[in-house]
Amino acid sequence: MIENTSFIACPTCQIKSAWSNDNPDRPFCSARCKLIDLGEWASESYAIPQQTSEEDEIFSEDLAANPNKSFL
Ligand SMILES: [Zn+2]
Repeated sequence: MIENTSFIACPTCQIKSAWSNDNPDRPFCSARCKLIDLGEWASESYAIPQQTSEEDEIFSEDLAANPNKSFL
């Protein structure tokens, strides 16, 4: 059986990492990059508190991209 693995560039450090169930931090290459990105994003959202609707969209996309996360 051939795994359909695609590679994506980490938004934080641009390192290519596999988009697979083995990488719970995708699209980031590691939990560290994920925290860095979330930290920056949190700072921005504190500066612009009116963008809560975008926050909801981001979480929806996350669920859609990680179907294994729930509904089991
Ligand atoms: Zn990274």
